[in-house]
Amino acid sequence: MIYLDHSSTTPVDPEVLRAMMPYFSEKFANPSGLYSLSRNTYQAVAKSRVEIAKFLNCSSDEIYFTSGGSESDNLAIFGLANKRKSGHIITTKIEHPAVLKSCERLEENGFSVTYLSVDDEGYVDLDQLKNSLREDTFLVSIMYANNEIGTIEPIKEISKIIEEYKENTGKKDIYLHTDACQATNFLEMNVQNLGVDLLTFSGSKIYAPKGIGVLYVRTGIPIDPMIFGGGQENNLRSGTENVAYIVGISKAVELIPKRLDQNKKLIDMRDELISRLLKIDQATLNGPLRDRLPNNINISFAGIEGESAVLMLDRMGIAVSTGSACSSMSLEPSHVIVATGKSKELAHSSLRFTIGLNSDKNDIEKIVNAVEEVITKLREMSPLWK
Ligand SMILES: *Cc1c(COP(=O)(O)O)cnc(C)c1O
Repeated sequence: MIYLDHSSTTPVDPEVLRAMMPYFSEKFANPSGLYSLSRNTYQAVAKSRVEIAKFLNCSSDEIYFTSGGSESDNLAIFGLANKRKSGHIITTKIEHPAVLKSCERLEENGFSVTYLSVDDEGYVDLDQLKNSLREDTFLVSIMYANNEIGTIEPIKEISKIIEEYKENTGKKDIYLHTDACQATNFLEMNVQNLGVDLLTFSGSKIYAPKGIGVLYVRTGIPIDPMIFGGGQENNLRSGTENVAYIVGISKAVELIPKRLDQNKKLIDMRDELISRLLKIDQATLNGPLRDRLPNNINISFAGIEGESAVLMLDRMGIAVSTGSACSSMSLEPSHVIVATGKSKELAHSSLRFTIGLNSDKNDIEKIVNAVEEVITKLREMSPLWK
């Protein structure tokens, strides 16, 4: 099987798994215990928090472990909203559903939300951002990199725009959250340089297990818990710590800087796949040609249905996705590709290939041939294609 769906999830790195193993059996104690057995697990969690704080260049008491990217996004948005009865949120049309659906729910509950437009490559409209900031805005949530089309948003510039607005108006309580789930492996994650107040990332995308995530919350930001109980995670997220997975995500983070030289390999493979696949008749790229995520290739093949292509490619031993995995059980066309101005039909005819550490340049020939064959077959079968 050639796995080309790393943006949906990655396999667990063997080194990550090795680090986790003792915490399932011999080192199993609840970190809150007062006996010596708990010292191991307490220290493992503390050490992991320090490791992640180093990665983000923040203090370890600004790191909160959650069950994944979705929970971190929900906690950031509902946690801030819960401090007030109403208010204004700015986000974008191309966010992950964990952000979009949370904002939609708040809209039903009396909050107002601005969904920023993007251009044809998926870049957020910064003028619209400037014009949307207002007296009651308390949250701007803009993703760092898009999971479907690989666009990297200018988070530093976005932060500057918000800071300028704050300076000019004297308003202090506008917070910038970024969903960095797809950026973590490849881009700068220094929260001071980025100028963000809250940041989400997920183990599932960085060769740690699924079901573990991190939310960074800058000290002093008023945020309410969404899960109540024993008061773990400094009262923000109760529940016995998932020690093994916390150790896993911290090990995964530790490995990221050691892999930066492999990004060049990914970029080479990405660019070769893009240029070969775009030679197919009526194929168009989704997302930017330059400066996209090193692992992302997203192409619309006019006249085909993405879902059918995925199933046929699967039978040929190639795993790809259409749009995002999260929406692939629905027949709605990708909201991201539609937001870039493409038709619903073209959005429906998109395939996303996301490469990763185990991807092999020698597979390019096989991948391109298989895609060509599938597209040709599907077009022959389509009554609309002539
Ligand atoms: C995967 C992903 C999420 C959700 O993370 P989970 O750990 O699966 O909950 C959120 N946002 C983005 C951009 C993602 O890619």
